[in-house]
Amino acid sequence: MIHRFDRVAVDLPRPTNPSPNDAAAVQELLGGKFGEMSTLMNYTYQSFNFRGRNRLRPFYDLISCIAAEEYGHIEVVSYAINLLLTGTTQRGNDPTTAPLLSGVNARNAYHFIASGQSALPVDSMGNFWTGQNVFSSGNLKLDLLHNFFLECGARANKMRVYEMTVEPTARAMVGYLLVRGGVHVVAYARALEKLTGVEVTKLVPIPDLSNDAFPEALAHMKNNEHLKLYSFSPKDFTQAAQVWNGTHPEDGKTLEFVQGSPEGFVPPDLDEEPQLNAPGFDGFDQGMFADIAKKMGIKV
Ligand code: MN
Ligand code: MN
Repeated sequence: MIHRFDRVAVDLPRPTNPSPNDAAAVQELLGGKFGEMSTLMNYTYQSFNFRGRNRLRPFYDLISCIAAEEYGHIEVVSYAINLLLTGTTQRGNDPTTAPLLSGVNARNAYHFIASGQSALPVDSMGNFWTGQNVFSSGNLKLDLLHNFFLECGARANKMRVYEMTVEPTARAMVGYLLVRGGVHVVAYARALEKLTGVEVTKLVPIPDLSNDAFPEALAHMKNNEHLKLYSFSPKDFTQAAQVWNGTHPEDGKTLEFVQGSPEGFVPPDLDEEPQLNAPGFDGFDQGMFADIAKKMGIKV
């Protein structure tokens, strides 16, 4: 089961110039073949499907911890997309002014037609994410090899999307995910090493460029976020520490297993977009709910 917090993993700045085309590029990191939907669903299914978990518990725990983290990653990418799309059309209630006119020239019209100027599980070309991106063979060595490859591919895509945008919202999100994805690369490399003795960490980093080259990533590395594997659970998945230990292959610092979740930040409150009727329902009686809350003693 999942224990959910109303927190987001990284504090995202508002865009300097909200841009639907930047949002469209960032979609690759959400619903692309190597996006966060893929990492989330790959590790989630592999954890559900894990056979012989009592014998191989450290590997089951590791995959489960990382699966839980990926939920928070689809969340941060979605918020980055949502912030990049906020305020990109003309606000108001008069449809005759064609308030969504700018959507005609946007790369992804779904952002203005199928959603309320917000994220969808699609890639940068608008193709919907598919379960065909899930690899769950049931063979541990094969699944771990796949996961190592998936994280390296994801890393390459993040770097390229970073190079496509100067928006601080997108760069803050990518910088954070490069560091956390880097943890997953090393975690799966370590898992393969413990399982087989092959020195997979000698392959990293793939691509060769270090996370140091990205200022937004460097800030998180100074906080040692590249060394920490979180359990995302108050007391379970402890045996992941039997895989996640030793030193980081790039800077030699000691790896740390953290029982629990990072603290996170209050998620951005997305402005209303009345021209899309998002969220609509202007007649909602806030006072009525305030009265109910008062009577029930609910803090609002
Ligand atoms: Mn991720
Ligand atoms: Mn990952």
